[in-house]
Amino acid sequence: MRKGRLFIISGPSGTGKGTICKRIVQEDPNIRFSVSVTTRNPREGEIHGRDYFFISKDEYMLLLEQDGFLEHASVYGSTLYGTPKEPVQKWLEEGTDVILEIDVQGAFQVKKNEPDCVMIFILPPSLEELKARILKRGSETEETMAARLGEAQKEIDQAPLYDYQVVNADLDRAVEEVRGIIEKERNK
Ligand code: 5GP
Repeated sequence: MRKGRLFIISGPSGTGKGTICKRIVQEDPNIRFSVSVTTRNPREGEIHGRDYFFISKDEYMLLLEQDGFLEHASVYGSTLYGTPKEPVQKWLEEGTDVILEIDVQGAFQVKKNEPDCVMIFILPPSLEELKARILKRGSETEETMAARLGEAQKEIDQAPLYDYQVVNADLDRAVEEVRGIIEKERNK
């Protein structure tokens, strides 16, 4: 049986990559979204098991010891994130495609072990637009905004190393573009 394909979606926060992933998964029964674990607290509206598995640092360390991660990284300082290995491997074996929404460090770890994975980077139309979107979304101070934009720029610098770059100026068009990439890769 044909194995599933692994798609990685990265991009700075505020680019809409989460929304793009949700739309793709909702409309395509042959692709599953890998729910990551994180040691950060849930934000308002986030649901355990849907958005993340919210776990303690001890639980995270135990998973790490048991070799339970496909990849793992510390993002924004001390917050730990990781992709549970078992469900992803099971889906791929069953022939189901999988989307990972992970940061750049994690993406390159996966690429090393799964060289056939497809890496897609979601870009904002500009840093100005990204700043406007982040401002609209939350309560950033001047200082945290500067840090976020600095992080965003560092991530954007890695975008050329991805297989595909998609600019999210218009959500519907960006979703169509990602869907087109998935179809093209499936037919290879
Ligand atoms: P947030 O806390 O805003 O949901 O996510 C912060 C960053 O962590 C985002 O860039 C997101 O893609 C990344 N991230 C989420 N889950 C994982 C994961 O399992 N592994 C890695 N490496 N990064 C992740």
